[in-house]
Amino acid sequence: MAQERFSPRQMIERLIAFDTTSAKSNLALIDFAEDYLMGHGVQCRRTADSSGKKANLLATLGPRIAGGVVLSGHTDVVPVDGQPWTSDPFTVVERDRRLYGRGTSDMKSFLAIALALVPEALAANLKAPIHIAMSYDEEVGCLGVGNLIADVKANLPMPRMVVIGEPTSMKLVTAHKGVSGFETRITGREAHSSQPQNAASAIMAAAELVAFIAGMAEERRGGLHQNERFEPPYTTFNIGTIEGGSALNIVPRHAAFKWEFRLVPGDDGEAILANFKRFAEDEVLPRLRAQAPEAEITTEVLAQVPPLRPESDSPAEVLVRLLTGTNRSETVAYGTEGGLFQEAGFSTVVCGPGSIDQAHRPDEFIELAQVEACTGFLRKLIEWAAKG
Ligand SMILES: [Zn+2]
Repeated sequence: MAQERFSPRQMIERLIAFDTTSAKSNLALIDFAEDYLMGHGVQCRRTADSSGKKANLLATLGPRIAGGVVLSGHTDVVPVDGQPWTSDPFTVVERDRRLYGRGTSDMKSFLAIALALVPEALAANLKAPIHIAMSYDEEVGCLGVGNLIADVKANLPMPRMVVIGEPTSMKLVTAHKGVSGFETRITGREAHSSQPQNAASAIMAAAELVAFIAGMAEERRGGLHQNERFEPPYTTFNIGTIEGGSALNIVPRHAAFKWEFRLVPGDDGEAILANFKRFAEDEVLPRLRAQAPEAEITTEVLAQVPPLRPESDSPAEVLVRLLTGTNRSETVAYGTEGGLFQEAGFSTVVCGPGSIDQAHRPDEFIELAQVEACTGFLRKLIEWAAKG
């Protein structure tokens, strides 16, 4: 097979050109990366979703032994629909020492630079392996990477640490909040609004549940489970959408709302959900069922991203400090796949090129200086891994 070579810039152009919006397949990108890696003799592992339309790819450079470093990034991007772009979002354009395109910051550049440096890594005769992990469906709730993590644990000698290349402007990030999202649906019984005694109002039930969530939010704002590294320093809640009913004079049979919480390390997400369900099942549902035995309250999990807990002087933190020369550890407000890696037992930090300020926006860009900084960082990682 041909040993293709790309500069980091060329590889960024190549990856941006694949429209890997989360709702679409990412297989064209994965096929391209796999062909390229196999062309260089690199072993790859694929893990697919149940539809077969999406896949993760895991490549191992160097010896198949424990103690390696995983460079992890997601291949999917957020939609461009309705956004005013100056140029085609899937064609990289340079203006003012910046590369414009969907995914330039979030987060194809990190993966592209890692891929472009594969020939250098192979030539360096690595003593510790470097794994490149490419996931699907991060932007819709970190749904894809779970397969990949399970595959790593089952089939690879245990890596020592994970660097998630989400855009931090190459700063070292060791903590973020978790994000858990849900949809709660209530089914009651309809009737003419003059006859509520023969009906069960789904909207009244939804209102009680929303008030319960507001109460959990209030407890935390008032001081429960504070974590001063974060702004605000407590778990926050949001009801993002609510709908239900069909007319003023009908007691509503149906209501639904989407809600989330953003968890600080130290608070307990499972307990939050369990409390909510207990209230729904023990308090609200019996009142509905007294009027309408067929009544239901269901809660579906839409997204579950655990927080990244700071672990001072963890192997990942020590390594990234060494490679970047920084001694500051930052906290960010957004979630990443890092919490899932950490939960699975890997020492994990976030450090990648580009800024979250540009992510998800029209005219997303990455500064060329960030591309250079990340290239330098990964070259140092290769040197480090070659020393063993
Ligand atoms: Zn991202």
